[in-house]
Amino acid sequence: MQAAVLESLGNLKLRDVPIPEIDDDSALLRVEAVSICGSDVRIMRHGNPRVVLPAIIGHETAGTVVKAGKNVSRVKVGDRVAIGADVPCGQCDWCRNGMGNNCAINYAIGYQIPGSFAEYMKLPRLVLDEGPVTPFSEGLSFERAALAEPLACAINGLELVNLSLGKSIAIIGLGPIGCMMIDLARIMGATQVIAVQRSAKRMEIGRSYGADAYISSDTEDVVSRCRELTGGKGPDVIMTTCGSVEAHEQAIEMVAQRGYVNLFGGLGKDARAMSLFSNTVHYKECFVTGSHGSTPRQHALAVKLLEKDLVRVAPIITHHFPLSEIVAAFDTMESRKGMKIVVEPQRG
Ligand SMILES: [Zn+2]
Ligand SMILES: [Zn+2]
Repeated sequence: MQAAVLESLGNLKLRDVPIPEIDDDSALLRVEAVSICGSDVRIMRHGNPRVVLPAIIGHETAGTVVKAGKNVSRVKVGDRVAIGADVPCGQCDWCRNGMGNNCAINYAIGYQIPGSFAEYMKLPRLVLDEGPVTPFSEGLSFERAALAEPLACAINGLELVNLSLGKSIAIIGLGPIGCMMIDLARIMGATQVIAVQRSAKRMEIGRSYGADAYISSDTEDVVSRCRELTGGKGPDVIMTTCGSVEAHEQAIEMVAQRGYVNLFGGLGKDARAMSLFSNTVHYKECFVTGSHGSTPRQHALAVKLLEKDLVRVAPIITHHFPLSEIVAAFDTMESRKGMKIVVEPQRG
């Protein structure tokens, strides 16, 4: 089969490799769609301690089961399934208590487990026993189902901020996650959604999600605009869906009393430390949290929301590439010209 193999940093090569062998406890997935994650680009450029090269990366996946071992009951041949990234070890306290994304081993597809920038991928026993493997109906396309992985991460972030009916929320950064969060925040009860974005291009796509207000961080003062829009209180919830330490600082500065800030977007390793006057948190009685990855429960929930079109992803899918053009696909991702780039390994 054809696979994009990351042979060394910055060096992604299309190779002919054997189709993975399936035993009684594993299954084979024909990969129909896999979207490129920001973390795939970081792995390609800088590596990751959990990825040993050469490796097949890719973890935002949907495909068809084409083989299943005789002991496999979770999926059957012909199933359309979405596959997430984080795979609980199933043994530690975190995994046993439904918090597999906090597992110290943190197994993930496209990391320790070979990923999906390939025509086929193996679903090994651990993935089938513990992992995010969610069958979906014909009404949902493969490319939309692949986005269940990032959507699950967005769900994880919003489950940590006590969002409920009638609250206001500011989302700083309208990348794919920020856009999905506009829809999610609505169905979770937010009655005021404020979207903040710097670049005009992403702002344009973000506008199709119909937030109540859009702030350009390029030309407007985000803190004073958010205060103004919330009658001086500040937003009840703030999600920083961008890799900006300034956004983290603004979020804590402007969040409402008893409000929640989720430092969702990770920062590059050269980022400076966030500066925080702890009295701000002290007097506001506010909550500051982060979030990382997602659990299989959240992945299954993401698929359900996509099937019902409660979270729209069509506007953020901007590019499609066959696997043979994997390098061009990564270039497009790095150029930030697009939002979600979908690779279709079955397309010639
Ligand atoms: Zn991802
Ligand atoms: Zn674990």
